[in-house]
Amino acid sequence: MTRTVHHWIGGKTVEGTSGIYGPVTDPATGAVTTRVAFASAEEVDAAVTTARDAFATWGLSSLSTRTAVLFRYRALLDGHRDEIAALITAEHGKVHSDALGEVARGLEIVELACGITTQLRGELSTQVSGGVDVSSIRQPVGVVAGITPFNFPAMVPMWMFPLAIACGNTFVLKPSEKDPSAAVLLAELAAAAGLPDGVLNVVHGDRTAVEALLTHPDVAAVSFVGSTPIARHIHATASAHGKRVQALGGAKNHMLVLPDADVDAAADAAVSAAYGSAGERCMAISAVVAVGAIGDDLVARIKDRAERITIGPGTDPASEMGPLITAAHRAKVAAYVTGAAAQGAEVVLDGTGLTVEGHEDGHWIGISLLDRVATDSDAYRDEIFGPVLCVLRVDTYEEGVALMNASPYGNGTAIFTRDGGAARRFQLEIQAGMVGVNVPIPVPVGYHSFGGWKDSLFGDHHIYGTDGVRFYTRGKVITTRWPDPADAPSGVDLGFPRNH
Ligand code: NAD
Repeated sequence: MTRTVHHWIGGKTVEGTSGIYGPVTDPATGAVTTRVAFASAEEVDAAVTTARDAFATWGLSSLSTRTAVLFRYRALLDGHRDEIAALITAEHGKVHSDALGEVARGLEIVELACGITTQLRGELSTQVSGGVDVSSIRQPVGVVAGITPFNFPAMVPMWMFPLAIACGNTFVLKPSEKDPSAAVLLAELAAAAGLPDGVLNVVHGDRTAVEALLTHPDVAAVSFVGSTPIARHIHATASAHGKRVQALGGAKNHMLVLPDADVDAAADAAVSAAYGSAGERCMAISAVVAVGAIGDDLVARIKDRAERITIGPGTDPASEMGPLITAAHRAKVAAYVTGAAAQGAEVVLDGTGLTVEGHEDGHWIGISLLDRVATDSDAYRDEIFGPVLCVLRVDTYEEGVALMNASPYGNGTAIFTRDGGAARRFQLEIQAGMVGVNVPIPVPVGYHSFGGWKDSLFGDHHIYGTDGVRFYTRGKVITTRWPDPADAPSGVDLGFPRNH
């Protein structure tokens, strides 16, 4: 082991005291390169207390103070794109260009936060009653905890903390223990941008650290992104402890391809969205629903494209797809492919036998394509989170939408068609939070919110955008009278206040 990743609390590196560490692996080699400190409940308490103390000042800081820091932060992040992306590739395994894309989408939220001045504007109604004005303002909630998944170690934290701190909150981030280094660099750069100590803190760890955050009396709100079972648990536990919670969960994103679709565009989109980042994206397309006669041609073109994908280390510019996050996850993904035929699927491509020369111990798996997958099979029902694309065949648009709406997940979805009327109908009928029309990965821009329906999100708010600002603030309504004793003499009146 060459290095240790420490906590970041109060604007400085804080070494762990629990004595517990987790291994961080380079997925391309399988080698443990780093260890990460796991926080105890006491260490989490220290971070939350630091954030609570910082809130006393930051919560009242001027908007221009906050935006000045955020503009400097934006510039620093921009200058460190490569460095952040390299950390992501080293610990997550995704290829460098994909990691740069993640950083760019995270930066969008910092840019959104730079414009917090307009988003926090209040509302004023004058003369609601004689001599009475009413204004509505939004104020920060306090200490926000963010708990994030392995698959976007920079972007998902950036979905949360820039907006939270722009709104005047302080933040404790618990990034994934599988690839924790990018989060620490993000916090170091925030400090370099002039963010006061204690406003953004990073604690590492596993369930122990998460439970300590969910139950801590000084944590006001919890933003979570991860798998559905954990999201459900986070929402229930943090809600029971009186916190507001947004918990984004897993997904099984379907792409409906109508018979009139541009079949080449649909095949390009399916391959890009299914196999990019080795399928380890919550917005990956994992199920293509082919309507009618287009199915055979579509599968043939997907196969043709998928076979030509170059798989290798994320540091090699020739690689288009990297390894999976852990050896255990690789084995789990492979089991879905090897078990698919027995559950009725036609295995068009089986990627389980892949090895990468010179990297024999990496967590490699090749491209798999399963056709005529049954809706009651494991490969269809579960979120596989690997480079495995299931194709399902239906006869009609209605059958396709019914199949998709029966899924417990409702994160992203897409339709491929040339028929505007069908696309419009789909937008209204499909039960999912994000819809793409001839766009396979409809991740909203920063100024529209991101979130799913059903088991893909627990809570009332989507993340970032307008919903993010509302989640990280609470409303206050002020009713004001400045009476002129000459024309509004005061007097006792026990009646309920009426407007006149
Ligand atoms: P995960 O649920 O295993 O872990 C997410 C976070 O929760 C991590 O910080 C982890 O340390 C913590 N955690 C794990 N087990 C826990 C437990 N028992 N108690 C408390 N905390 C626990 O998810 P992952 O494997 O890191 O990420 C992949 C999952 O995240 C996929 O399901 C993917 O779809 C989902 N995801 C969803 C979105 C979205 O926007 N909906 C975005 C990215 C990833």
